[in-house]
Amino acid sequence: MIDGHTQLVGLIGWPVEHSLSPVMHNAACDALGLNWRYVPLPVEPGQVETAVRGLAALGFRGANVTVPHKQAVIPVLDSIGPNARALGAVNTLVIGRRVDRTPIISGYNTDDQGFVGALRCGGFEPEEGGRAVIVGAGGAARAVVFGLLRSGIGEVVVLNRTLERAQALVSDLGSSAVPTTGSHHVSDSPFPHREGGRGARLRALLLTPETLVESTRAADLLVNATTVGMRPHVDGSVWPGGVPIPAHLTTFDLVYNPLDTCLLRQARQSGARAIDGLGMLVRQGALAFDMWTNKGLAVDEIAALMRTACEQALRR
Ligand code: NAP
Repeated sequence: MIDGHTQLVGLIGWPVEHSLSPVMHNAACDALGLNWRYVPLPVEPGQVETAVRGLAALGFRGANVTVPHKQAVIPVLDSIGPNARALGAVNTLVIGRRVDRTPIISGYNTDDQGFVGALRCGGFEPEEGGRAVIVGAGGAARAVVFGLLRSGIGEVVVLNRTLERAQALVSDLGSSAVPTTGSHHVSDSPFPHREGGRGARLRALLLTPETLVESTRAADLLVNATTVGMRPHVDGSVWPGGVPIPAHLTTFDLVYNPLDTCLLRQARQSGARAIDGLGMLVRQGALAFDMWTNKGLAVDEIAALMRTACEQALRR
């Protein structure tokens, strides 16, 4: 029940009507007996500053930020967390108050930790000698690569349909990038945000069936961070048909609608470990929920509650 004590959070994006975030956050509020509500807030491009200042004026405790506002929201912030700064993208706003009640708007990014948490939960530990192949170079791929580098992985190859976008990702997330011949772009300087280790090697390649199959030969992890395989195009897969996925390759699909994607079925058919995208979604959400409510709840427990709610919603 909404009453005079109800605390508000929400999601700003455009569009927002298909998002699972209201379902999962409200389910967590209900299960934990919190008088909080999470509302979808469609914000047209160009209206972000007005919207965020409006949220602060209305007493909202925070918000999630999704496409296309993850960068546009940055100039409105009073402070920005290190992950959001390094990624140049914010997915969580926390609205606090100074002593004089004026708002302090802080921006964070929980996508990278959400990804790495889901990866570990799925049984894969990023290690210094480990090699990952990421397909895609959009916002989600950036969070994935950043999370892997911070976790200490040894090598990351980014393949994308538009090579320039993969090269830009490698340049931005490596401390320096040296273009080499043709479709290659390499950065082998130590990753500036790593918490130890020798530094990771980052490479960008044009996505073709051949480069994908070749680059996964010596890899431990394959991540699909493209939109390929999303509903309604559920028969799509970045992996070529008729070629078995190597059995040693943990395969993570960021797509979560449908949960069981064509790529994950290809992985299971070869006996490879398959991890779906819902784990990342609920973990980034659970981390944001924890920041807003500040109840010291276990992120794993919140994520589990959120996952159950999302699975029910996806079955409807
Ligand atoms: P984005 O910024 O729009 O990037 C889309 C990516 O998909 C680009 O690399 C694009 O390549 C590639 N792509 C699109 N169509 C393709 C095709 N037919 N063949 C090959 N590549 C294609 O989107 P995003 O925000 O990064 O999201 C990417 C995916 O991750 C979406 O499915 C999204 O739902 C999912 N996601 C999941 C979570 C989670 O928590 N599980 C979080 C965020 C996103 P070009 O650069 O060549 O266009």
